[in-house]
Amino acid sequence: MENRLTIYNSLSREKEIFEPLVPGHAGLYVCGPTVYSNAHLGHARPGITFDLLFRYLTHLGYRVRYVRNITDVGHLEDEVAGAGEDRIAKKARLEQLEPMEVVQKYMNTFHKNMADLNTIPPSIEPRASGHIIEQQQMVEQILKNGFAYEKNGSVYFDVDEYNRKYHYGKLSGRNTDDILTDTRTLDGQDEKKKSYDFALWKKASPEHIMQWPSVWGNGFPGWHLECSAMSIKYLGETFDIHGGGMDLLFPHHECEIAQSAATLGHESVRYWMHNNMITINGQKMARSQENFITLDELFTGRHPLLKQAYSPMTIRFFVLQAHYRSTVDFSNEALQAAEKGLERLMKAVDLLKKLESAEKTSANFNVEELKINCYAALNDDLNSPILIAHLFDGVRFINSVHDGKAAIDAEDLAKLKTLFRTFVFDILGLKHDAAGGKEDDTLAKVVDLVLQYRMEAKANKDWATSDRIRDELAKAGIIVKDRKDGFEWEKA
Ligand code: ZN
Repeated sequence: MENRLTIYNSLSREKEIFEPLVPGHAGLYVCGPTVYSNAHLGHARPGITFDLLFRYLTHLGYRVRYVRNITDVGHLEDEVAGAGEDRIAKKARLEQLEPMEVVQKYMNTFHKNMADLNTIPPSIEPRASGHIIEQQQMVEQILKNGFAYEKNGSVYFDVDEYNRKYHYGKLSGRNTDDILTDTRTLDGQDEKKKSYDFALWKKASPEHIMQWPSVWGNGFPGWHLECSAMSIKYLGETFDIHGGGMDLLFPHHECEIAQSAATLGHESVRYWMHNNMITINGQKMARSQENFITLDELFTGRHPLLKQAYSPMTIRFFVLQAHYRSTVDFSNEALQAAEKGLERLMKAVDLLKKLESAEKTSANFNVEELKINCYAALNDDLNSPILIAHLFDGVRFINSVHDGKAAIDAEDLAKLKTLFRTFVFDILGLKHDAAGGKEDDTLAKVVDLVLQYRMEAKANKDWATSDRIRDELAKAGIIVKDRKDGFEWEKA
């Protein structure tokens, strides 16, 4: 295969050679999280997938502008029908917080978890609530172009009108008849001409917490609109790559294409990339199910389904061991295997530093060929599992040199060191903290043990000992909170 980066374009359903719009530059937009709860496994995959893309494009010499939004308004509970309560407003109501407190809280944990996973922050991270004017301008333009209609203070996208000129459904392959059958039973559709029409602007009832004035009255933008408005604002009317999870393909990305074309007269995105989903023990992860695992729970092992803590690098390695377009199934066995694999890789990286060169490299090893294979794997639609398999060819060779069963000359040794540094650290974004999870795991066991003794002291009414344990732990950075039925603790 040709040694240039190819990307599977979800729109053409083919691998295409990546040709940026502006030579030497690459524009990348990725749909970010709706920040109303803790980051979970589902966030890890796009986070890592598009971090790999960002790192690889940068390595190839592109100046990449990576934009990933934060959705802090407009994402309703039923995202297909565009109905129900705003997710952030609901959380604010339940937790008696300001909506922006909810946003800040979960945005902070999202950032922390993404840093744990060693993903590089995007170049720009725009928030929907900070781009209300841009979104209103887009609605006005779509209305002016005849692809939307106003009804009782809301503005809806007119899919039938759009279909006279364009093709709604080209990305997902759905046609409007299918969508009509899917959504017929849903209520609250009476303002729309057709159930597949979607809201660009929604009228807010007086008690709705997040609302802004507009020419159509007080309201808030439809969820799909922010990504069209912000991607065009920061990357231009046409830009290179739009990424996101496969679950966003319909309706979110289908609607984005329609909004941008209805505004500009042409589509914005040149390559659409979608990462596949993560299942847990073969089941789809669901917020309402016991299989919902947050990233913090994974890192600490505190979830009934987890046999141990898994370090962020184990999770990262695990995700990279699958191609981003394949499904990935999480299980303790698979994670433990990933942990072992990563350990072997990192051990070899350490050994490599200490290897001594010989006169001649063994005949069965060719570092140039290994390098070509590594690039070929990534150029083939970011095939990270194949890249990792090639790196393990290198690992086996490093181990046999260490065991005295093979040899490497000085020039090849220098090349091999560069190759491992480049692919393991710079591009795959792995780092040396595979033991992090284990340390957390050990700490958790020790603290739990100490607190068991404190429980015994309390049971014996030995308040002095009980208080001393609590105070000493606090000094060591462990905050203990007493509960009716025991205790909870967290790192300060
Ligand atoms: Zn989006």
